[in-house]
Amino acid sequence: MEPVREFSWSWSRHRCFNSCKKAYSLRYSTAWKGWDRFSDEQARLAYSLKNLRTVDAWTVNVFRDSVRKTLMDVHSGRTHFNATSMKRNAVRRLKQDMNSIPSSSMDPGKFNLDEIFYGNGNHDEIFDRALEKVFMDISCFFRSRISEIAAKLPYSSFKDLKNPISFFIGELKVWVSPDLVFTDEDGLNLVGFFRGDDLLDGEWPSVMGMNVIYACRRFSVPEERIIPMNVFTGNAFPDSLCAYSYRNTGELLGIIGQSSREMREFEARAAEEHATSTDKCGNCEFRRFCHG
Ligand code: SF4
Repeated sequence: MEPVREFSWSWSRHRCFNSCKKAYSLRYSTAWKGWDRFSDEQARLAYSLKNLRTVDAWTVNVFRDSVRKTLMDVHSGRTHFNATSMKRNAVRRLKQDMNSIPSSSMDPGKFNLDEIFYGNGNHDEIFDRALEKVFMDISCFFRSRISEIAAKLPYSSFKDLKNPISFFIGELKVWVSPDLVFTDEDGLNLVGFFRGDDLLDGEWPSVMGMNVIYACRRFSVPEERIIPMNVFTGNAFPDSLCAYSYRNTGELLGIIGQSSREMREFEARAAEEHATSTDKCGNCEFRRFCHG
């Protein structure tokens, strides 16, 4: 059966739409079916570029996945919940990802790093840099209150340890990625991990707000019983910092409705010249596409 391109919404899609319409079109339209070797060259290039990750984005994911993987390992009796076992999981994952980087830079669908694709570092330097970042996050995590809580909780208190997760608002499919969800005597706890630099970009309250909307619907919990824990790690917060707040969910529901309408209208006008935002090109994974 032919795969069908389904419309769904996420905060990252919203961010991309507002940042550069050309990047949005490349990511969500041109790249469609780019995994298929019979697709045209543009689709295959857009798909390859869409899959690029920066070292920062990659290492944040490795850290988040290592926390969840270690909790699962503890549950299956394979290890203890401590920094050593989490670092071991992180190293395994970093090596696995590095080894999967294709030798040809144009191998659609394979994991690849922006820095390697664009020739801004070699494998060994990048691996060392990534290791340092993830180990720093893990050390921060084990100095935080959240690690003490997580270590004491029975595994049955955790929910949805696999990410990302989708849910529906009306007929619209929405994606979220809460890093940890668990219950304790205070209520339903939502944990989001962020790097210290993310504190300034102002997006984390919206990301957590999306998680709150999801949790209220998924677990039928009133909003006042939800505890949002935004944990900041990295060089800026060696002892970690926890912020308990999120963006107003009514406001966010309004943004989701309007943003998804605008995206659909934009996609329906496919032939229109896409406005571009060249001030964002410096870090954009599609710069090969736009600037050769
Ligand atoms: S390189 Fe610049 S113009 Fe092209 S998609 Fe990225 S941000 Fe937009």
